[in-house]
Parts: sequence; C-alpha cells; structure tokens
Amino acid sequence: MSSSSASGVVPFEQACEIVREYCNRISSGQPETISLLQALGRVLAEPIVADRDFPPFPRATRDGYALRAEDVRTVPATLRVAGTVKAGSAHHGAVARGEAVEIMTGAAIPDGGDAVVMVEYTSRDANQVVVQRTCTKGENIVPTGSESRAGQEMLARGSRLGFAQVAVAAAVGKTNVQVYKKPRVAILSTGDEVVDAAQSPGPFQIRNSNSYSLAAQVIAGGGEPETLPVAPDDEAALHRLVQQGLTADMLLLSGGVSMGKFDLVEKVLAASGAEFFFTGALIQPGRPVVFGQAAPAARRSPIPFFGLPGNPISTMVTFDLFARPVLAALSGASPSRLPTVKARLSKEIKTRTGLTRFLPSILQGGLLDAEVAVVPWQGSGDLMASARANCYVVVPPDRDLLPAGEMVSVLLR
Ligand code: AMP
Ligand code: MG
Repeated sequence: MSSSSASGVVPFEQACEIVREYCNRISSGQPETISLLQALGRVLAEPIVADRDFPPFPRATRDGYALRAEDVRTVPATLRVAGTVKAGSAHHGAVARGEAVEIMTGAAIPDGGDAVVMVEYTSRDANQVVVQRTCTKGENIVPTGSESRAGQEMLARGSRLGFAQVAVAAAVGKTNVQVYKKPRVAILSTGDEVVDAAQSPGPFQIRNSNSYSLAAQVIAGGGEPETLPVAPDDEAALHRLVQQGLTADMLLLSGGVSMGKFDLVEKVLAASGAEFFFTGALIQPGRPVVFGQAAPAARRSPIPFFGLPGNPISTMVTFDLFARPVLAALSGASPSRLPTVKARLSKEIKTRTGLTRFLPSILQGGLLDAEVAVVPWQGSGDLMASARANCYVVVPPDRDLLPAGEMVSVLLR
C-alpha cells in the first residue's frame, strides 16, 4: 500500500477498505498452548478436528420406542417390547419385525430400528406397547456422522473461541488448545491538561479517562494493554513516548490529532518515519482519526498505529470502527464485518449531510420489534451519554433527516 494513494481525509467506506486491506496483509502471531477455558475469547492457531464420527452412533433424540416404521403404517399398532436401552449403555440387540425397544434420549438405536416414536404417543401394558401415531423412517434419530465425520475440520484456524466453540473443543477432547498469543497494545494519551486518574486534577485539568476506556476496549478485543504515562504537548517528550510505544505490536494514541496549535501527534510520528494511510475520515464523531504504520529505530518491521481524537466518545467510536479490526487481525482472527443490525427508529434525527455519523443510542423494545433512540448528548466529550448508550445509530452521509419509524442501521458495541 503506498502512502500517497490513500493518505488524506477519506470517506468512511474508503477508510474501512484501507483498514481491511491492511488486515489482510497481517501475518498471524505466535502460537501457544493453554487450557481450554483460559482460551475463551482467544483465536485458534490450529484447526479443531473430529476425533470420531458425530454422533458416533445413530442417536435417539426422544424418549420413546425404537421400532420399524413399516410396523406402524396403520395405527394403533401393538408391538412386543423386546427390552430397554438407556443412554450410555450397549446395544440391546436387534429390533425384529413386530417389536419395539424402549429407548431414552441419547441412547443408540438398536440394529433394525429405523424410527423412534415419542413415549407421549404410546401406551404400555406389561411387555406390549400400543403405538398411536405413524412414524416416518429416520424420525427422532440423528444418523451416525451426520454432524461431522471423523477427521473432518469442525473449527478452522482463525476462529475465535466463544462458548459454543469451547463446547466443540471439549466434545473432541481438546482440553488444551493452541491459540495465538495476545497482541501487546501500547496506549499513549496526550495533552497538557490530562492527569493520571489517581491524581486530583487542578482547576483546568481533567483526569485521563481515555487510557482506561482504550485499555478496556483492548482487553475486550483480545489484546494486552500497556498503558504509557500521559505525554505532554511537547515534541521531545512525545517523541520519546512514541518510540517506547512502537516496541509493542500496535500503538494507540489519544488526543493531539486535531488542527490545534499543540496537536503534535502527526508531526512527531512523521519525524519517526511513519507512513500514513489516512489522516482523517468523513465521520462524526472522530473525523481527525489517523491510521498508519511506523517502526522504532531498533526494529525492522513497522507496527500499526492509530492517532485517535481525544474527545472520549470519538476515542471509543474510532477504536471500534478501525482499531478493533486491526487488533483482531493481529490476534490471528479471520476477518469479520462490523456488528450491525437494523432497528426501528423511535424519534426522528435531524442533522447535516457530508459525514457518516455514529450517534450514541439505546436499543430497546421486544425481541421482534427492537426500537432505537439517540441518547441526548453534549457532543463527543459527553462520557455520561456514552455510558447510557448500548449502540450507535449510523446516519449515512447523504441523509439530513431520518424520520421516526424508519428501519435504521445500528452498530452494536
Ligand atoms: P484533543 O484531541 O487533544 O484536541 O482533545 C480533545 C478533547 O478531549 C479535549 O477536551 C481534551 O481535554 C479531551 N481529552 C484528551 N485526552 C483525553 C484523555 N486522555 N481523557 C479524557 N479526555 C481527554
Ligand atoms: Mg490535546
């Protein structure tokens, strides 16, 4: 990717495309083997392969009677009960013509049986059962190997381990799995007014909340945050801390990327030989966001960095839109789209055209009639509004009015 072709302020879609292309060029990290539960949220560095057929035998999915479907073509039909088979026990023998075998959910269908009638549709009298309903062949039976064949890949390398994937690994006996190491993400907040959260701020100072929100987002995104001391708006000091940050796998800066006289981040990065992929995106909040790569003097291969705008909601949104996909790629994860859904807008939105907007919003309502409304906010510094929100309504750049009732795109977080 050349720095000239993509640098500058770009539309949202183009910024996403630049990030996507960058992610596709990232080679996967170092593998390590850890215990399965420790691996929750991590990315597989090995495929998970079926060690046997799934299911390993034709499995009953109901409590009832295994029988031959042709024996209950006309009902009621009376069959001789030839025995009982419960989950975990060996085959009872065969189901002969005119016979049924009492069977429990999870048990193996005895030879000769080709359907299971639910116990609810039968009545039992000593060793005879009267079946009230006809069955089709295969009813209430999962055939051997129908979910997966022995040797087949069940989870691909690059899959993230959520609870369902953990269950698959457990089912094949993988209580230790090979995953990629967590990328180390350096976090560098900038600004003369910003003091450590543990300090009491002077009358014109503010506590550093961005290093905390970013560290939390990094952890949630599968990375290992390394928070650096706050950088003052001073070139030499900022340069030193940037060099330190470039020894991680990714560097996130907050603040200092706007047009102000003391916004020094781009200048200092450029002096460190950075290549810029974009220096702004036509979005709100977060327009001044910067993406590029740079290498510290001692290291040959450059690492990705983001200069995120310092306004707290801008920092959070731009992380979600651009930095999280790069973090996922560094974690070895296969690419995935931004998590969006559609929901009915409950109150109209009036705005201006030209920018793709991500407005902090609350998604609520029923399962089948989700509604979304923008949270009243005082602009992109409003932490409380962000804490009340659980998503963002996405306003396309060509729209200045979204009427109430419209199905709108919602970015989840
Ligand atoms: P900047 O992007 O440096 O122009 O900062 C924009 C706004 O975000 C200013 O009001 C800053 O005080 C605020 N800000 C910058 N960095 C942080 C931080 N680390 N934590 C909280 N607010 C910040
Ligand atoms: Mg600043």
